[in-house]
Amino acid sequence: MPIKELLGATDFFLEPMVLVSRDGIIETPNQSFAEQLELPVESLPGRRLDTLAAASASAVQEYLRACTESIRAVEGSLLLRRRAETIALQARGVAYPPNSAPTASHVLLQLVSQKQGPVSSSTRSRSARNAENWYEIEQSLRRQSQILEVTLASIGDAVLVTDARGHITFTNSVASGLTEWPLEQAKGRPLTEVFPIINEHTRKPVANPVSKVLQTGTIVGLANHTMLISRSGREIPIDDSAAPIRLPDGTLFGVVLVFRDITEQRLSEHARAWLAAIVESSDDAIVGKTLNGQITSWNPGATRLFGYAPEEIIGKSITTIIPADLHAEEADVLARLRRGERVDHFETVRVAKDGRRVEISLTVSPIRNEQGEIIGASKIAREITERKRAERMLLEADRRKDEFLATLAHELRHPLAPIYNSAQLLCRIEHDRPELKNACEILKRQLQQLTRLVDDLADVSRIRAGRIDLQPGSIDLRRLLHALEMSMRPLFEASGQLLTVHADPVYVHGDSSRLFQVFSNVLHNANKYTPAGGQVSVTCERAGAEVIIRIRDTGIGIPTDMLDEVFDPMVQVHRASLGPRGGLGLGLTVAKRLIELHGGRIEAHSDGEGKGSEFLIFLDASEGS
Ligand code: ADP
Repeated sequence: MPIKELLGATDFFLEPMVLVSRDGIIETPNQSFAEQLELPVESLPGRRLDTLAAASASAVQEYLRACTESIRAVEGSLLLRRRAETIALQARGVAYPPNSAPTASHVLLQLVSQKQGPVSSSTRSRSARNAENWYEIEQSLRRQSQILEVTLASIGDAVLVTDARGHITFTNSVASGLTEWPLEQAKGRPLTEVFPIINEHTRKPVANPVSKVLQTGTIVGLANHTMLISRSGREIPIDDSAAPIRLPDGTLFGVVLVFRDITEQRLSEHARAWLAAIVESSDDAIVGKTLNGQITSWNPGATRLFGYAPEEIIGKSITTIIPADLHAEEADVLARLRRGERVDHFETVRVAKDGRRVEISLTVSPIRNEQGEIIGASKIAREITERKRAERMLLEADRRKDEFLATLAHELRHPLAPIYNSAQLLCRIEHDRPELKNACEILKRQLQQLTRLVDDLADVSRIRAGRIDLQPGSIDLRRLLHALEMSMRPLFEASGQLLTVHADPVYVHGDSSRLFQVFSNVLHNANKYTPAGGQVSVTCERAGAEVIIRIRDTGIGIPTDMLDEVFDPMVQVHRASLGPRGGLGLGLTVAKRLIELHGGRIEAHSDGEGKGSEFLIFLDASEGS
């Protein structure tokens, strides 16, 4: 029967057995082997034996190689992992197939647990007892060396052991990984070959710590900034120490060198140093505090802004710099921090050491520890006293400008009414001279234009002061637009433009004279910015719950990047090209605000210069009454 089937038969081999290829791949384990490891038998074929071992892969490989080359069974010990524990097993390995050594393709391993049952000594002869004692001593030594091997294999630091001449006798897997020297190749070589070290800055070789230990017999620490050069030339920053190994009689037996790769540590040190330098050199005040509001750090920016030196303020409460009337604000900030929230660009006031009130913009973010718990906060404060002062000045200048415009509109309006009345009177007189008649027409037209400008000016002032009152009612838009058409038709005819108005019978709720003003402003623009021969159309239709009024012209159009801006006060795209017909750049501002007061919106569309413009006004539809 082939060996694989014998192994598969659960009751044939009772000892744990496994057939392994010469390069360490498990082919067939028996049930008892799987039980030793507490793993399902079907999970084992195909796995590497060394992945189950606690010893290094190279040690397992070495043992298997010895078995394949030997014509006898080779005794050894295997440290296997069973869940979290390591079990030591006596192993006997034979080359397989039989008689194929030294080029056997497989090894058949039989494992014997090292636990021994109790044995009665009275039945044994003296020599048997002696043999047993030796056996126990050997077992105990082997166990200890196995414990040592497991310990060295499992610690995270690299361990390198030399004999008293400084030649390598042992490297653990971390040391082999870092130096890139496997134990079997490193063994017997001088330490300087396997472990060459240089100074990070000077790049000169550093005195080898092992030679120092051998000379002085004391523990030696590596100098700072030491770099290990691996076998392939990789440079690894390391630190640690070398210590002598002595026999009980004091003879120096060798040296153990323990070192660790500090690349990560070095990187985080660099990052920390960078951060510290940024905080130090920042113009902003950067302050750390605990969740109880106790100051823990204070950068030079904070000293410049608030006047306290770090030693005067660290350890004190943050309320030292908070005005008494704003203490409640700090409690609120702390509560938000405890919830893990950030406070962004919060404008507030602090008190400097000399009592000066400093206006600041504050950003406060929670600081978390490695477990993610919030342990404090960092505050970044930037002085905005100047900016605030400039803002106040601007607001004041703006307020004065509004006041001036309101007064101007008011004063200009005063004489307009009597002038208008007088002009009406004059125009009613039958003039026999045509130039007088013409003069009358000009007078009337220019007065209308002037009145519109002054009205826009007055409205903008009112809008900015929030003093526009609507007189709402139900509006029949078709009637309103026809009234608009009647009043504006002469203007369009005089300009040689075709005006068409098509309105569905739709109703909105609003102030009819204000809506008339809006449509009139937009229509005046269409007239103003469309050359003779052009067309202007007005349509009004219902779309769902809304009414859309479209005023479209074939005029000079609006650059697409200006479409939103035309609604801003005093924005004029075509000022230069219009000469005396230009307005104040207020008509659309007034229109937009009035439409918004009606709960609607207005949009400008144009495919660009020379391509005409379209203004869309959206209002909520209402049922007529
Ligand atoms: P203005 O008194 O200058 O006409 P508005 O606020 O009414 O002020 O309009 C702002 C600017 O928008 C105008 O100066 C003009 O450049 C542009 N504009 C408005 N309507 C049109 C239009 N129908 N065609 C082209 N440009 C227009």
